[in-house]
Amino acid sequence: MQTLTSPDVVVIGAGVIGCAVAWHLAALGAGRVLVLERGQVGNGTSAMSSGILRTHYSVPQNVELAQRSWRFFERFAEHLDDAEASAGLVKCGYLIAAPAGDKVAPLREALAAQAARGIAVELLDACAAKEKLPIARFDDAALIGYEPDAGFADATLTATSFARAARRRGVVVREGVAVTGLVLEGGRVRGVRTDDGATGRIDAGMVVSAQNIWAGELAAWAGIDVPLVAERHRVLALAGPAPYTRAMPVFKDLGSPGMLYGRSYGDTQMLVSEGTAGERLATPDTVQGEVGMDLVAHIGEQVAARFPGWEEAALASSWTGVYDVTPDWNPVLGPVPGLEGLIVGFGFSGHGFKLSPAVGRVLAQAALGQPTDVPLAPYALARFAGGRLLSGRYGAGAVS
Ligand SMILES: Cc1cc2nc3c(=O)[nH]c(=O)nc-3n(C[C@H](O)[C@H](O)[C@H](O)COP(=O)(O)OP(=O)(O)OC[C@H]3O[C@@H](n4cnc5c(N)ncnc54)[C@H](O)[C@@H]3O)c2cc1C
Repeated sequence: MQTLTSPDVVVIGAGVIGCAVAWHLAALGAGRVLVLERGQVGNGTSAMSSGILRTHYSVPQNVELAQRSWRFFERFAEHLDDAEASAGLVKCGYLIAAPAGDKVAPLREALAAQAARGIAVELLDACAAKEKLPIARFDDAALIGYEPDAGFADATLTATSFARAARRRGVVVREGVAVTGLVLEGGRVRGVRTDDGATGRIDAGMVVSAQNIWAGELAAWAGIDVPLVAERHRVLALAGPAPYTRAMPVFKDLGSPGMLYGRSYGDTQMLVSEGTAGERLATPDTVQGEVGMDLVAHIGEQVAARFPGWEEAALASSWTGVYDVTPDWNPVLGPVPGLEGLIVGFGFSGHGFKLSPAVGRVLAQAALGQPTDVPLAPYALARFAGGRLLSGRYGAGAVS
C-alpha cells in the first residue's frame, strides 16, 4: 500500500470533485498530494449522478464554470494526458422549453447571456424541437432553447479517470481511510486525524475538503457553520413506446410541476427525474431509499404530459441519490474566513458534476494561493450570513 506521511496538501474525499482537485493540484505543481477516501473512489454521491452536462444556468457565474468544464470534458483524455481516460461523454445537445408564464423571461435572458459568452445556442420553434426530439410534443411551448454543445457523461468514470491520471502524476490516493478530525493549531489547520492506526495524525500545510453531503463534519471539527441539507432524489428509467436514443437531446421541461429533466438511458430508455426539492435526510447517507409507486405515478403523469403515449411506459429500474443542498442551491467554494489552511468545496445541490473540471481547478488554485480562473467571492461561505445569496431565477432546484 502506498502511503504519504508528510504531504503538502491533503484532499478529503475522492468523489468527482476531490479527484478533480487532486489532478489539478498535481498539474499545477502542488508537490506531495494525498487523497483520503473513507470508501472507494467515485462511490459516494457521484455514483448516482444523472451525469447531465450543459452550460445553461440563470446564475452567470455558473455559466462560466460550466463552459470551462465543457471544454475540458470535450477533450478529456487530452487534458489528462491519458489516452485511455474517458468521461463517457455523449454529445447529444440540451433542449430546454418553457410554456407561457414566469419562466419565459429568465429563459430568454439566460439564453442571451450564454450567447454573449460565445456559447452556441439556438431558439427553436415547436417543429424544429420535434425534429430533434420526435418522441415529445412542444405545442404548448412559448420558448425553446437548444444548446448543441451539451449532453451527458459518466461521473464515476470521470472520477476514476481523474484519480488514475493524478496517481500517474504522483498523487497518492488512499481508499478505506476516514478523516476523523482536523489538526488545529494557532487558529489554522495543520493537518488531519484519521481512523488509520498506522498513520493517525497527518500533518499538511493545506487541507481541501471535498466531502459533499458529509461536509457537515467540518462543523464538529472546526466550529464552521455548514449550511447544508442532505436531500434524497428519485431517478426512474422508463421503457416507452419508442426508443429515446442517444442521438436525441437531453430535455428540461420548465413547464412541468417537478421541472423534469431527462435523457437517453442505454440508447433506448428514458432516465427521468424531478429537478425540484427532494426528501430531507436527518443524517447524510447514500443508502438506497424506497421509490414508492405514488412517486412513480407522479413522475409518470408529467412524462406522459410531454411524451405522448408514454402513459404506457414500463418502469425498467429506479434508484435514489443524495444532493448536498445549500440555501441557494449553489456551492460553497474557497477558503473559510478565520481559518487558514482549509479550502472547501461543498453544496453542489445536484449540479456539481458538470462543473467538476473547472471547480477542481479553482479549488486547487485557491489551495496553492494562486489567482483563481473565476472569482470565488460569489461562492463564499459568508454569503449566507451576509444575505448575498446566489439564487437562480427558476426558483429552488438544480437548474439554478
Ligand atoms: C441523483 C443525482 C443526480 C444528479 N444529476 C446530476 C446531473 O445530471 N448533472 C450534474 O452536473 N450533477 C448531477 N448531480 C450532482 C453531482 O453528481 C454531484 O454534485 C457530484 O457528483 C458530487 O461530487 P462530490 O465529489 O462532491 O461528492 P461525492 O461523490 O459524494 O464524494 C464525496 C466523497 O467524500 C468522502 N468522504 C466524506 N467525508 C469523508 C471523511 N471524513 N473521510 C474520508 N472520506 C470522506 C465520501 O466517502 C465520498 O466518496 C446529481 C446527483 C445525484 C445524487
